[in-house]
Amino acid sequence: MRVPFVDLVAQYESIKIQVDDAIRQVISDSAFIGGPIVKQFEREWSRVIGSKHCVSTANGTDSLEILLQAFGVGQGDEVIVPSHSWISTAECVVTVGARPVFVDTINRLYTIDPEKIEAKITERTKAIIPVHLCGLPADIDPILRIAKKYKLTVIEDCAQSHLAEYKGKRVGTLGHAASFSFYPGKNLGAYGDAGAIVTDDDQVAEFCRRMANHGQLQKHTHMIAGRNSRLDGLQAAILLAKLPYLKEWTNLRIEKAKQYQDRLDERLNFTSIPEGYKHVFHLFVVQVENRDEVMGLLKAQGVDTAVHYPVPMPMMPAFKKYLGEGDCYEVNGKYVDKILSIPIYPELSATQIEHVASIVNSHYVKG
Ligand SMILES: *Cc1c(COP(=O)(O)O)cnc(C)c1O
Repeated sequence: MRVPFVDLVAQYESIKIQVDDAIRQVISDSAFIGGPIVKQFEREWSRVIGSKHCVSTANGTDSLEILLQAFGVGQGDEVIVPSHSWISTAECVVTVGARPVFVDTINRLYTIDPEKIEAKITERTKAIIPVHLCGLPADIDPILRIAKKYKLTVIEDCAQSHLAEYKGKRVGTLGHAASFSFYPGKNLGAYGDAGAIVTDDDQVAEFCRRMANHGQLQKHTHMIAGRNSRLDGLQAAILLAKLPYLKEWTNLRIEKAKQYQDRLDERLNFTSIPEGYKHVFHLFVVQVENRDEVMGLLKAQGVDTAVHYPVPMPMMPAFKKYLGEGDCYEVNGKYVDKILSIPIYPELSATQIEHVASIVNSHYVKG
């Protein structure tokens, strides 16, 4: 049985008419950059998240970078990030000229360990970027307490956590500002690169809007040297066409995860969701002892899997120079060779889940 890692074609088939109409409309209006459709998406996304402002951008990496600039983070500053995430979370810190300071994560939750943050704070620390990785919110309350104590900015990286919740509040509203990605494979995905910034802060929103559009709010009024990081009309239209289904798709992801949890052997160490968290399962991660063998076993039976992510960021060549003396990412270092992401998406069938679960389980029955 074939089980692809993601199935964007199946999703497109289910909303083909709406998406095709939306694309046709943008082309016949020649509304390729900016315009009412982009504004409408921004309005809808801030309404969905519950934030005062939404500024659309070209991608989630730009959103993070522009936010750091909005909060004045640059040369000589330090920013706390988890050791385990997609590279963008630390990359944006380097591209604004600051230094990423990595903090270890929690086993089976994969989010930053709040108890290890304070030891990494110095006079130069300006911000913390918690990541709601795999769809599970980071433990924000202690992070906000630390941020308040040391007067730090909290920028949420929500690239994998559309509609996730922490103690009844939607992610994207928990810190000072947040970044979203709508990369095609994300829980809400465009048909190309796309991103957004959300915040309640008027000044931050205005800065971001200006920065992302050549330093101008009105045509030919360039107040700062900005950049070109805009959401294009086609992507905005596609995202708007998909938006009405996001809630249903999210519930289906949660349902599929439940089916995995019911079928998988406990020894696979899948995430048990802490009380008060809503996990939206961008990824479903298990831990296995002999990962290459298990991946091969699955591949041979038609199942694609992936590893998110095989190298802790401080161990990447790109960030080696930021590794402090005696820095140790013990927890991340222990699980990194075991983690395996198995397919999860709204269109996954019960038989596909059964197929994947039985192969992964058989690895343990054997051992
Ligand atoms: C995808 C992702 C990003 C970056 O988003 P892009 O739109 O691809 O630039 C940032 N952080 C995390 C955790 C991500 O998964």
